[in-house]
Amino acid sequence: MAIVSIIGRPNVGKSSLFNRIAGQRLAIVDDLPGVTRDRLYAPITTDRGQFYLVDTGGLEEENSERPFAESVRRQVHLALAESDLVLFVVDGRGGINALDREVAMTLRRSERPVLVVANKIDDPKHDEAYYDVFELGFEEAIPVSAEHNRNISTLLEMIEERL
Ligand code: GDP
Ligand code: MG
Repeated sequence: MAIVSIIGRPNVGKSSLFNRIAGQRLAIVDDLPGVTRDRLYAPITTDRGQFYLVDTGGLEEENSERPFAESVRRQVHLALAESDLVLFVVDGRGGINALDREVAMTLRRSERPVLVVANKIDDPKHDEAYYDVFELGFEEAIPVSAEHNRNISTLLEMIEERL
């Protein structure tokens, strides 16, 4: 089965997106950044087929001995090794930071299929804010709200088209 990994820096909403798509609270979400306990896999069935969705982040995001930039890097490399498609989640409203840019560069070099997901676009009035994510250099980005269930079915269609 194809593997679709969700990556991005802590607190952009990776686990929220995972839970929204998986339809169950399999991943642990908290108001603190980066509380996913481990990499989690959920089999997802859609009209078109099946794939495994992976939530990354894991224990290391909360391990103070390892700086989180380093654990994000490690998760990106793990995800690239096993994924057929990467969902690169960014905060569509909070702006793009240096770690987002670094992850973007690694992803572009990998030449693996990447779909940029601009999360936290809870309302159409936030749509303009998300255009900033195009500075990451990918052709396509979809604005979603994991929390408010915005554009999630469109995202699923885009995932299926790429598998
Ligand atoms: P992760 O560290 O990337 O896995 O992020 P989480 O899923 O744990 O979410 C981090 C924070 O962002 C939590 O406080 C969530 O409630 C919040 N969050 C996640 N998705 C959304 C969204 O679509 N809109 C808004 N406004 N907040 C969100
Ligand atoms: Mg998480």
